[in-house]
Amino acid sequence: MSQTPNTTSRRELHARPDQEGQVTRLVIMGPQGAGKGTQAARLAEVFGIVPISTGDIFRANIAGETELGKLAQEYTNKGDLVPDEVTNDMVRDRLAEPDVKQGFILDGYPRNAAQVAELDGILAGLGWELDGVIELTADRAELLSRIAKRAQEEGRDDDTEEAITRRLDIYAEQTAPLTAAYKERNLLVQVDGLGEIAEVTDRIVASLATQLG
Ligand code: ADP
Repeated sequence: MSQTPNTTSRRELHARPDQEGQVTRLVIMGPQGAGKGTQAARLAEVFGIVPISTGDIFRANIAGETELGKLAQEYTNKGDLVPDEVTNDMVRDRLAEPDVKQGFILDGYPRNAAQVAELDGILAGLGWELDGVIELTADRAELLSRIAKRAQEEGRDDDTEEAITRRLDIYAEQTAPLTAAYKERNLLVQVDGLGEIAEVTDRIVASLATQLG
């Protein structure tokens, strides 16, 4: 079908001389299976910024059997959100690390209205503002088929049917409505997440070019 899926080369990804030296601060949102993590990693390369995935941080802590991991696991396995105090502190600490000064893309945070307010506070404290919020869209049938495939390939503990349904429900109830707030602030960029990985990246970069000016 398509000739070169996933093959945007590193050189192509880096071919953004206009972005040199720029600090870009982004959030990426989208339902489970929309390809957020994949696109966040690629965008981090394009913009020379740090990808920060709250899900990845939790998974690393669970694998390392840290206190945070033990606490988080109860929630992640069921597809529930980890309590805000825990997640907020974790994000606050991560954003204070030196590498984040070069810019960041947050994946998996904020996920509810309280986290939006918290992120505003954290960024204000650092004297920073967001430059854009990407919403990746995809229909539910496509999402379910992608997650089913990922479940087979990666064997994530929270890719059970129950936990997936729970996560998609929480996304629809608590996370999707947040895009309205970011739209009002003229930060929202909505991008269709269907298609080849490299195509979707190109689409996001093109939409962001307009947003970032
Ligand atoms: P997905 O987007 O597929 O649900 P993530 O990797 O983003 O996967 O998150 C996995 C799990 O980690 C979530 O189901 C939740 O339990 C926890 N988690 C991640 N980010 C947050 C957050 N911002 N607030 C609370 N819990 C979170």
